[in-house]
Amino acid sequence: RKVIIVGASHGGHESAIELLDKYDDVDVTIYEAGDFISFMSCGMQLFLENKVTAEDDVRNFAPEDIEKKGGHVYANHEVTAVHPDKKTVTVKDLTNDSEEEVSYDKLILSSGVTPKVLPVPGSDLKNIYLMRGRDWASKLKAATTDPAIKNVAIIGAGYIGTEASEVFAKAGKHVTLMDMIDRPLGTYLNPELLDILEPTFKDHMDLKMGVKIEGFNGTDKVESVETDNGDVSADLVVVSAGVSPNTDWLKGTVDLDQRGWIKTDPYLRTNVKDVYAIGDAILPYSIPAGKPMPIALATTARREAQYLVDHLFEAKPDQVFKGVIGASALSVFDYHFATAGLNQFSAEKNDIPYGTSFYEDSMRPAYIPEKDNPKVYVSLTFNPYNHQILGGAVLSKYDVTAQGNVLALAISHKMTLEDLAEQDFFFQPGFDRQWSLLNLAAQHALGLAR
Ligand code: FAD
Repeated sequence: RKVIIVGASHGGHESAIELLDKYDDVDVTIYEAGDFISFMSCGMQLFLENKVTAEDDVRNFAPEDIEKKGGHVYANHEVTAVHPDKKTVTVKDLTNDSEEEVSYDKLILSSGVTPKVLPVPGSDLKNIYLMRGRDWASKLKAATTDPAIKNVAIIGAGYIGTEASEVFAKAGKHVTLMDMIDRPLGTYLNPELLDILEPTFKDHMDLKMGVKIEGFNGTDKVESVETDNGDVSADLVVVSAGVSPNTDWLKGTVDLDQRGWIKTDPYLRTNVKDVYAIGDAILPYSIPAGKPMPIALATTARREAQYLVDHLFEAKPDQVFKGVIGASALSVFDYHFATAGLNQFSAEKNDIPYGTSFYEDSMRPAYIPEKDNPKVYVSLTFNPYNHQILGGAVLSKYDVTAQGNVLALAISHKMTLEDLAEQDFFFQPGFDRQWSLLNLAAQHALGLAR
């Protein structure tokens, strides 16, 4: 049985190791268009801040990790077409432009996404960078220490833009973080948590929010970003304003939605028999939303790959892919947060009725001095009728991000505020209060006075 995997990132890696570990008789080949196997963009900020062993170590796997299990990995090999009738793919060797046709029994697409280039005048000027993959990582790293780069404009204030802005602020650059939405991380967190984080952003950079990018000015290199509300000087621009799926090559063969995402059924099958798709190039089923939505995370790709491999050779899988929550964590300078499931923004966008609550406390009993007793904040998003928890986030200067995983568990098991309010959690004053943080946050959401 021959399985071809397109893309050597999280989805491709997980598919390959699951296949090689679970089956003895499967021939596994990964084709990767890039020249490096397999840079982990999740580790990019740590790399840019010199917190990793070496650039080439920031990877999911090295080819020999798969080869010693019996698989095959080809870098610089782009899959350019699928031929469903013959059950073959065309593979182009990018080092010499030669092509060959290779057969498969099963084909797994994990071709991911590419950051969008803004369709505005001047976007081909030098020093306009993206933040994904090893090539951009190397260029961004060089820019952090380039004395000619003084002003850095980051376009897009989501996770990646936040990471980029922190990197360049810490590197001593003057940073302007820009977005069309009105607050950094505005689509990720509820307003009360944004209120806490916003001053921290402002301490380290200029914010230019609620603006439309109209173009880039400069002769050879970029010199400024033009917006509908004035220009921003920039020797370097990092664009982190959305992504496009790497699916052009599938048009006419594999069904795509209007924006190019690969359409899959609940078993992660495409419209073409024996062709499956996972990772950022598809929209996964969200458990709290009850429908597919964009949740572009490595965690999602890996869970999809694991499910797919478990059921790949069943005529009809006995269970669907149960879906994901979308759990993530990030630091913003001194603050750390974790979030899981939906928030006010994503609930509204998906027409899901919601209520929210915000809880603020100190982490430990009041008799612990302030320096050892940081503030902790919890935001919950829930169904206002049956109190099912749809999402939640924790924030503190102390690392309470593991509580985000507790929320993820509660959300995925469709627990209610009442369940969380009474759930038995530990108490030890070295760590928490008599009732644990999430008990208190849920009790507060239910209006119980404490
Ligand atoms: P991708 O990672 O997009 O990789 C697709 C691969 O397929 C690419 O290597 C591409 O070259 C290759 N390819 C595409 N088309 C072809 C073709 N036709 N032939 C051959 N090869 C092809 N997620 C988290 O869970 N936690 C994090 O902390 C986190 N941090 C992130 C930080 C940054 C800066 C970025 C950019 C992303 C981060 N993510 C994080 C998201 C995570 O990286 C993605 O969700 C994950 O990489 C998706 O994996 P994938 O397999 O779908 O595809």
